[in-house]
Amino acid sequence: MLIDSHCHLQDRKFDKDREDVLQRARDAGVTGFVVVGYDVASSRKAVDLADDRSDVHAVVGVHPHDAKTLTPKDIDTLDRLADSAKVVAIGEIGLDFYRNLSPREEQERAFHEQLDLARSLKLPVVIHSRNADLETYEILSRYEREAIVDWPRDKPLGIMHCFAGDVTLALRYIEIGFVISIPTTVTYPNAGRMREVAAGVPSRWMAVETDAPYLPPQSVRGKRNEPAYVTEAVSCVAKVRGVAPEEVADRTALTAAWLFGLGEIGEPSAPSRAETS
Ligand SMILES: [Zn+2]
Repeated sequence: MLIDSHCHLQDRKFDKDREDVLQRARDAGVTGFVVVGYDVASSRKAVDLADDRSDVHAVVGVHPHDAKTLTPKDIDTLDRLADSAKVVAIGEIGLDFYRNLSPREEQERAFHEQLDLARSLKLPVVIHSRNADLETYEILSRYEREAIVDWPRDKPLGIMHCFAGDVTLALRYIEIGFVISIPTTVTYPNAGRMREVAAGVPSRWMAVETDAPYLPPQSVRGKRNEPAYVTEAVSCVAKVRGVAPEEVADRTALTAAWLFGLGEIGEPSAPSRAETS
């Protein structure tokens, strides 16, 4: 088992060869793809992709870059898209104070509105956080305190996509119910801190992702990333943890299945939220 917990297969960079890309990944051992939206149109495309393929699941939401465009009508549309059984989370949502393509207040507004939506739908959230460690953690820890009241027992609240913080912050997120996702960039020579996180977090709270077409691994740096390369993140994580790649593939797939409620693979040995080691 191997799940790419975050990719953008709906991106136009895959328009010419999407089926080949999917097949290459399956041939490399990928058994599940979580296709994440970043605006309303890409969310709709993610659902369309997932509807036609049993191994593809969709996440719907508006990225902080586009926060300023998010209207109440968009929230209704996301809500309706989430009616599909193939929609497994709300995202990617969060804060990006690196590029600040939307004003900070607008980013926070959109973040809160979509957290509310996720909570009402009992869906986990996929979080994007860049140069906003403090602010994101503050919002999510408050969210945890509010949401936990009626949240299904033993279900994570979400996942920190492309986690770029240190081990201490990773453990704080795990404490409030967030899975840590290790991207293919963990293979970069200067990604020492990310490898420390990959080595230092409890395995049941770790997932792997490509963020394809973005963030290619070291071996194809500068080119388009694709889900088949999630195996490179797996190899790197296996190396720093001193375990077999198959173990990392299976363990992270179980975690993704637990988080996203992919019952067919996740349930039998799904970890409990209380267990953090
Ligand atoms: Zn992404």
